[in-house]
Amino acid sequence: MRVVVTGGAGYIGSVVAAQLIAAGHEVTVIDDLSTGHADAVPAGARFVQTSITEIGDVLAAVPVDAVIHLAAKSLVGESVVEPAAYWRNNVVGTLAILDAMRAHGVPRIVFSSSAATYGDVTEQPIRETSAARPTSPYGATKLAVDLALTDYAHQYGLAAVSLRYFNVAGALLTERQNFGERHGTETHLIPNALLAAGGSGVTMKLFGTDYPTPDGTCVRDYIHVVDLAVAHLLALDVEPGHHIVNLGQGSGYSVRQVLDAVQDVTGLPVPIAEAPRRDGDPATLVASNEKALALLGWKPTLDLHAMVRDAWRFHQSQL
Ligand code: UDP
Repeated sequence: MRVVVTGGAGYIGSVVAAQLIAAGHEVTVIDDLSTGHADAVPAGARFVQTSITEIGDVLAAVPVDAVIHLAAKSLVGESVVEPAAYWRNNVVGTLAILDAMRAHGVPRIVFSSSAATYGDVTEQPIRETSAARPTSPYGATKLAVDLALTDYAHQYGLAAVSLRYFNVAGALLTERQNFGERHGTETHLIPNALLAAGGSGVTMKLFGTDYPTPDGTCVRDYIHVVDLAVAHLLALDVEPGHHIVNLGQGSGYSVRQVLDAVQDVTGLPVPIAEAPRRDGDPATLVASNEKALALLGWKPTLDLHAMVRDAWRFHQSQL
């Protein structure tokens, strides 16, 4: 297929684009490089540095079979401080993509949605039918796009898949290029723990030790970025309609369990400082991944140890 990947210079987008190329698809990456890196665009992809609102120019130039849309602002904390930027970029920007797709007859989209659409839910594991009550502007913008996709799919015959990612981790290491997390502001647990273990002199803050969980720290469902990317390729083959699909391992690990895995893999202690809860962090988020199996034939294959191992190798490759 001829596929446009928005955000293909970012962490997840670059892994998706690399896997598409490896599977024989023809890939065009669109990225404005506001947070992505030009050297993360995989070899073999055509690269257009532009805003998603200009995607019409790309779709007018070459026939396209599908758009995989990952370009977004994605920091929960920042979204609370700057909601306007999130609504404009994530919602208005995505509507521009959907309208350009209609204008140029592009029949399918795979959208990077999020577990943040659910908010603080009591039902665990979380199913796609669980109530969506986002607790941040970031989650609200992802839910707004999901709602728009339902209407667009229904009325305009689009094949649309919203992939609701849980906690993505790990890296893709190849002979030619390495693809991993390189965020200007790093907020995620595994890269922060590796940074602290790696002797950077940074002490990692452990946010909250009084949650109603077995060891008092938050429980999350971690998924390897390589497994996650595979689901995007499978999502290119669904029937028309809007399909919402959770992507997670289906099991949870506490922050302390992740820190133990980091110590195991690196052989180094992780300097931590216990800190108060971080605003907006729910105690437990674990995915039901039954629908991913039923609809896409997708199953996770890489465990937490592999995620930490690959993230550590990527971290070391950047030194
Ligand atoms: N966390 C932490 N210290 C950090 C980063 C994260 O204690 O430096 C905790 C965070 O409070 C949450 C879990 O690790 O309980 C996962 O956070 P992350 O930001 O990686 O993902 P989120 O679940 O917020 O999307």
